[in-house]
Amino acid sequence: AFLDAAKSEGSATNAYITVLEEEALDAAEKIQKRIDQGESMSPLAGVPVAVKDNLCTKGVKTTAGSKMLENFYPPYHATVIDKLSDAGAVILGKTNQDEFAMGGSTETSYYGITRNPWNTDCVPGGSSGGSAAAVAAKLAPYALGSDTGGSIRQPCAFCGLTGIKPTYGSVSRYGLLAYASSLDQIGPMGKDVKDCAAALSVISGYDIKDSTSILEKPFDFSRAFDGNIKGMKIGVPKNYFEIGISEDVKNAVLNAAKEFEHQGAIVEEFEIPTIEYAVPAYYIIACAEASSNLSRYDGIKFGYRSDQANDLLSTFYQSRSEGFGKEAKRRIMLGSFVLSSGYFDAYYKKALQVRGLIKESFQQAFQKYQVILSPVSPGTAYKIGEQISDPLAMYLADIYTVSINLAGLPAVALPCGFGENGMPVGMQLIGNAFTEETLIKTAYCYQ
Ligand code: GLN
Repeated sequence: AFLDAAKSEGSATNAYITVLEEEALDAAEKIQKRIDQGESMSPLAGVPVAVKDNLCTKGVKTTAGSKMLENFYPPYHATVIDKLSDAGAVILGKTNQDEFAMGGSTETSYYGITRNPWNTDCVPGGSSGGSAAAVAAKLAPYALGSDTGGSIRQPCAFCGLTGIKPTYGSVSRYGLLAYASSLDQIGPMGKDVKDCAAALSVISGYDIKDSTSILEKPFDFSRAFDGNIKGMKIGVPKNYFEIGISEDVKNAVLNAAKEFEHQGAIVEEFEIPTIEYAVPAYYIIACAEASSNLSRYDGIKFGYRSDQANDLLSTFYQSRSEGFGKEAKRRIMLGSFVLSSGYFDAYYKKALQVRGLIKESFQQAFQKYQVILSPVSPGTAYKIGEQISDPLAMYLADIYTVSINLAGLPAVALPCGFGENGMPVGMQLIGNAFTEETLIKTAYCYQ
């Protein structure tokens, strides 16, 4: 049924870059046999899933939304794909995304824009916009995305879904085409928090192939659904609601705060003083790491090679100038600039120091609160084409999401109403490292 839907409605949203029809039917049949033979399997066995196209799938085209990887067929699976397959998940296809996960609207993909199923004139958010659109349009029951500065949470907010950005180090990044390695984390996107929890408990846990992997055992959320948040301390950073946020988003999130209070939580206002530095620090660090990570696409070892090239240097120059899109190039240049001698101390080093302060400001908050409630994005999904020519405005819209990645913390994004334009509004619940269970429990009480 999902494959049929992907075929017939898929083109309206352009959620998928690749649909794996035969492979999916084949896998489903094999799993059915194992279930018929009485094998006890994970709750995800036989359940289809869509995965973002920056996750390596063995023998299946993996593009990261870039022309650079138009013909890249990885010889191996990402660890999360191995884990899903072991659990019996059926992979339906690979979803569209902003090129190399750089963006917030899925308009920078080489494979065309993705549309928001709630209103196809609007963006689905990004960079995991294809995964969000696939789930929202019921072309997949859940999906995997990656979140470097909001790319799971913001498309979930724009498409009325729930998504989890896990604690850094809890899900293996092996086989995730890197954007900014110290910020990247893979996570689930689904219609509710229970589905996301089921997926996260399969994909999380230690992996020797990722040196930043730290969670010993996969998460176990079996006790997260008791529906009781009495006495839980929830902090609402009131300076998050003062400037640059639209009224409808503000009201929806503050109404959610009242609902938590109604359910017995202790909700208090406080301030996170570092918010104004989050976007500049993030874009310096993310671009710096991206410029280094994307240097591997040189026309020789990986991906696209220009036929205009006739010597070594022109192979580099031509392949990179033809293979990368505008946004990727902008970030490579920004990143190379902040890392260059003479500017390193003023920008990159400074940004790392600011990152430390941001971390500290959250640690202080967690001395008082178990959960922090915040908006995901200052506005709801906007019209396609409306913001793409103003990169600075798009960067600024990441204000609520990027500090979570800088601090390595977990956050759950979930729907909390609708905006004036009829599009969904999302809120996020932020917790201290490895408190996913608390966040899931809190989200479950609300939804
Ligand atoms: N919008 C942010 C950026 O463009 C976040 C992207 C992401 O999380 N991959 O960098």
